[in-house]
Amino acid sequence: MADSAPHTNPPAGRDYSAYGFDSRAVHTGVDKDGQYRSATTPIYPTSTFVWDDVRTNRGYDYTRSANPTRRALEENIASLCGGVDCRVTCSGMAAVDLATMLLNSGDHLIAGRDIYGGTYRLLHDVLPTRGVRVSFVDLSDEEEVKAAVTENTRALWIETPSNPLMNVHDVRALVALAKDRGLFTIADNTFLSPALQRPIEMGVDVEVHSTTKYINGHSDVIAGAVVTGSEEYAKGIAFACNACGLGGSPFDCWLTLRGVKTLGVRMQKHEENAHKVAQFLQDHPAVERVYYPGLSHHPGHELAKSQQDGFGAMISFETAGDAKFAQDTLTGTKLVMLAESLGGIESLWQYPWLMSHASMSEEARRAGGITEHLIRLSIGIEDADDLIADIGGALEAASANA
Ligand SMILES: *Cc1c(COP(=O)(O)O)cnc(C)c1O
Repeated sequence: MADSAPHTNPPAGRDYSAYGFDSRAVHTGVDKDGQYRSATTPIYPTSTFVWDDVRTNRGYDYTRSANPTRRALEENIASLCGGVDCRVTCSGMAAVDLATMLLNSGDHLIAGRDIYGGTYRLLHDVLPTRGVRVSFVDLSDEEEVKAAVTENTRALWIETPSNPLMNVHDVRALVALAKDRGLFTIADNTFLSPALQRPIEMGVDVEVHSTTKYINGHSDVIAGAVVTGSEEYAKGIAFACNACGLGGSPFDCWLTLRGVKTLGVRMQKHEENAHKVAQFLQDHPAVERVYYPGLSHHPGHELAKSQQDGFGAMISFETAGDAKFAQDTLTGTKLVMLAESLGGIESLWQYPWLMSHASMSEEARRAGGITEHLIRLSIGIEDADDLIADIGGALEAASANA
């Protein structure tokens, strides 16, 4: 997309870049009230801003272009991801879409085969209508990635760990391969959040988030973010976000700013719980197989240790028995809710076979390792003992039913 308009950013807040992750999460971008100095960022639910004269405004003119509450959140997320800039969007898919706008008609994109379903749909069904061709490969197979590169290839789309089997892809190796071939890289970091993985520090050019998940963390907002690692990409993203009107609402941004301040402590508790639940599932006779990179037998365990600051709180597992057993288990809990989505403080589980991955053909689901026995869990911040009792009770009830 061509950039014909001048690109300016509104005034930045105080610089907290010398501080640690949790201090930056609490403070960056927050001090936006010069008039009354409120300790939290006010919501500015306004579409437009009054000018002092025809040449002068106070840094904001129209909320589609920029809004002080949204800008506060953008500064915060950019800082946590180690980026130069951020644009907050009205959904995670709007963020995915925005990142793809760096591509032009005639360009070719390479993406992993095991990416988020909504991203797959956009890349597979929408991008070709804009003249962008997409190839889907196994990102863990370097030869396959190399073989997919053509003279029109511009970018590589990385998602790790992948959904729902938690495959871990080597971000540094993929960035090196991309740089070698003159491609730029986009990484969807939703599953870990910047608290546990920072792709831009590993050389990724553009980082995408569904902030609906861990960054907001309270399951009460749909939103997204695109963070850029250099000015080169920041300009194009800022231009397209305004041109296409993808920015998030001030109210959603205000809620997300409230959520992001506790990201660090939430991720610690999410992960602590996930380890305990994964271990419990691993030892349970009604469970065949557990996919969690934090378990030492997981094929991505060592790689995850080398590129992540933690293993996260997403677990998938296969139950023993038939499909009915898995389905019965899913309705047997009192705390864990049967629902799609992830990354909230409450534990959720779902059934990829009929829920998140139902739009894939049966053949594609089986090829991707998605079976009628597979359950995907997003571990919340409840008491681990309660979660284990709840899940154990559901497995036992389903066994009694079998
Ligand atoms: C949820 C999700 C998205 C899409 O985000 P929405 O906020 O639902 O639009 C994109 N990527 C990943 C990895 C996700 O989990």
